[in-house]
Amino acid sequence: MQSNPLRELVGATGSRASYEVFSQYTVGRMLRILFDLLAEWKLSGRLALAWDESAYPLLPPFPGRGDLGEVELRRLSPPEAGQLFLSLACGEERFAMAARLVENPGQSVFQQRLPVELAWGFSAPLCEQVLEMLGERQREIPKEPRAEALSAEFSKRFIKYLESHLLESRHSLSLITGILRVQKAISSELDFDRLLELTGEIMRETFGFAFGEIELLEEDGELHHKKSWTGPDEARDQAEIRILLEQEQQMELFKAGAPVFVSDVMQSPLVLNQRLIRVLGLRTAILLPLHTATEGVGLLKLFYSSQLHLGTERLGWLEELSALLANAILNAREHTRVFELATKDGLTNIHNRRYFEEQYDLEVQRQKRGSGALCLLMLDVDHFKNYNDQNGHLAGDQVLIRVAKLIKGTIRSVDFLARYGGEEFIILLSGASLVQGWRVAEKIRTRIAKEVFEHGDKQPGGCLTVSIGCAAQDEQIQRLEDLIKRADKALYFAKDNGRNQVAVFEDPEVTRDPS
Ligand code: GH3
Ligand code: MG
Ligand code: MG
Repeated sequence: MQSNPLRELVGATGSRASYEVFSQYTVGRMLRILFDLLAEWKLSGRLALAWDESAYPLLPPFPGRGDLGEVELRRLSPPEAGQLFLSLACGEERFAMAARLVENPGQSVFQQRLPVELAWGFSAPLCEQVLEMLGERQREIPKEPRAEALSAEFSKRFIKYLESHLLESRHSLSLITGILRVQKAISSELDFDRLLELTGEIMRETFGFAFGEIELLEEDGELHHKKSWTGPDEARDQAEIRILLEQEQQMELFKAGAPVFVSDVMQSPLVLNQRLIRVLGLRTAILLPLHTATEGVGLLKLFYSSQLHLGTERLGWLEELSALLANAILNAREHTRVFELATKDGLTNIHNRRYFEEQYDLEVQRQKRGSGALCLLMLDVDHFKNYNDQNGHLAGDQVLIRVAKLIKGTIRSVDFLARYGGEEFIILLSGASLVQGWRVAEKIRTRIAKEVFEHGDKQPGGCLTVSIGCAAQDEQIQRLEDLIKRADKALYFAKDNGRNQVAVFEDPEVTRDPS
């Protein structure tokens, strides 16, 4: 099996690895140029390549070429970091070269912004050292014109290669770095929403797309849009824009599983909303199906406003990235599912009491750090037994789901709602005083009383209502239980006082509204 630089890379960590793979890639190209040159010059014989192990620990064996004969590879203890040595024995002729690729191991040629001409050269003492290590001490380093000419030609071609591939190499490097960052980030990220956000952030930074989207396969067997990411210059409010692809073709390419490069999105029949493409000025795209070894997970779409040159090699790397992301998404999805099972109430889909207790502890710590007040509401549906008896438990369930939604729609996102049990709900109002808590409770109460519930008119008061008890956190409260007791006391007061009302606990009394 041919060695895959990315596989090796993924097993490694840190930017050092991306440097090594990059070097390996460059050295591979260097050898290929040399092989071509030798074939052209009709030279055959033995090629020995030696390298400084500390600078190139990942260098794999390069496949030899028949016409060149044997390729010998040796590792050297470092004579000088960052050097590569080539020793050629072609018939009677012998060439030795030392190529200096990088000044500082750990940084690529391009990161160092070295002029390409300086990136490689010859050094007689180093060649000697290499020859010695290769057991070729007795032979002189050639000073023949032919050797000089070969070296010069090789140098010229290698520099030309570096120049012409500068862009591609830079892009490859950013791909590798991106993949490493994605891997690092996703291996520690188990929250599904956060993972999607993070993926976009990293992709944007490293792949510099103008617009990106992710669609994931759902239980209905269809791809569903999950998130859009805009490029670095775009306004955040574009994040919900979607670029629609022709459904059948999109499904086909998702199933095929291989990355697809769209060289001209403006002309592509795959893209349905061409106007948007024009408005956003998008020109090219990479469509990357996300697949694990066994299943398809989703489709990543990256759009660019410039032309992209994407070699088959980099498409291969994208496939690796696809597997990484697909696995991370599956893991995070599963984790989120298990987490929700443990923290959410199955009927109303709001949090459960156990999770509420955790949130209360966090909120109290926050309060102690000085972010202000904290208020708790205890809500109970009035005459719910009656509702169940009249309309059945299933209808009762629907009421609970609806009540949960109405409460959620009334409170702020920083407030925390949970089902306390049965037809009781508990709400933690972050930063709210007793008066503010009372106001929120009144808002919830009136909102529910106004709502038209099915069979609500059969309830004792002519409509379905709730009663709410309200209590504020103070120095006397040590535990959640104490606060709940106070809110409960207020709730009982509201019930005794006729229901469909709010009552507040104001130490030591309960009243209908705070003084
Ligand atoms: P009050 O106004 O005093 O609160 O009267 P109530 O009838 O609401 O109070 P009670 O505690 O007597 O009855 C609560 C009812 O809530 C009884 C129980 O069957 C019902 N209940 C608890 N959990 C659920 C549930 O998940 N679904 C349905 N449909 N009913 C539930
Ligand atoms: Mg009750
Ligand atoms: Mg009740």
